[in-house]
Amino acid sequence: MTQKTVALITGANKGLGLEVARQLGKQGLVVVLGARDEAKGAAAAAELRKQNIDAHVVKLDVCNKDDVAQLPAFFKDKFGRLDVLVNNAGVAEWRADDVDSFRRTFETNVFGVVAVTYALLPLLQASPAGRIVNHSSVLGSLTSLQKKPDMFGSFVMPAYTASKAALNGFTVALAHKTRGTALKVNSAHPGWVQTDLGGEKAPMKVVDGAKTAVMLATLPVDGPTGQFFHLGDPLPW
Ligand code: NAP
Repeated sequence: MTQKTVALITGANKGLGLEVARQLGKQGLVVVLGARDEAKGAAAAAELRKQNIDAHVVKLDVCNKDDVAQLPAFFKDKFGRLDVLVNNAGVAEWRADDVDSFRRTFETNVFGVVAVTYALLPLLQASPAGRIVNHSSVLGSLTSLQKKPDMFGSFVMPAYTASKAALNGFTVALAHKTRGTALKVNSAHPGWVQTDLGGEKAPMKVVDGAKTAVMLATLPVDGPTGQFFHLGDPLPW
């Protein structure tokens, strides 16, 4: 069993997930990149290892039951532990707006997160400092959108907003269920960030976009649980 803190970041072959893995790795954590395309995950992990990061890869499509089922054994056998789970894998369908688009979006952004989290919860609860970070979005902050509908901008995606609001509900409920234990569960809004999902017009670079999740993944023992943050500032649900 490794003495180091071990983190799984889902959807970590590119974008925010890869940068979260890089920043956690630079802090000395062992990072495991979840990637549904193993070759892309292996290439990303190899790049991190060149930066002296202890990086590994696990084949993980969060919607694939077999991939999810093998996760606990993977972490027990390879590291004897799991301390941090960053539920980062996510999709946004800009154009489709129908019930099938809702189903596809919820499959990854909600059910995928729930499946991975519940599979790994016993290991995370066995950790002396378990941390779960759900990569949400301000587009799932219903209070923010109600107060300032302009925040939607050109991103009026009902399925995405509903999925991130549901994800936030999971954060609150799981934090409540585990309150009083060492585990902390929080939602992160990375900002509008230049990635394949965020697009080129986004004002933030990934290096800054990753900071909120990294902060929540490394919270001290007296840190918050069941809250929603962007760069250290609390967001309303
Ligand atoms: P991205 O560049 O499109 O990367 C998304 C990652 O998720 C990719 O690695 C992708 O894998 C993976 N993924 C998608 N479906 C998956 C599945 N079923 N199983 C496993 N992996 C899957 O997006 P990003 O901007 O980095 O977004 C990361 C997270 O931040 C998402 O949850 C997103 O909603 C959230 N977020 C982003 C922004 C922004 O402005 N960028 C703003 C708010 C919130 P493939 O490479 O195989 O497709």
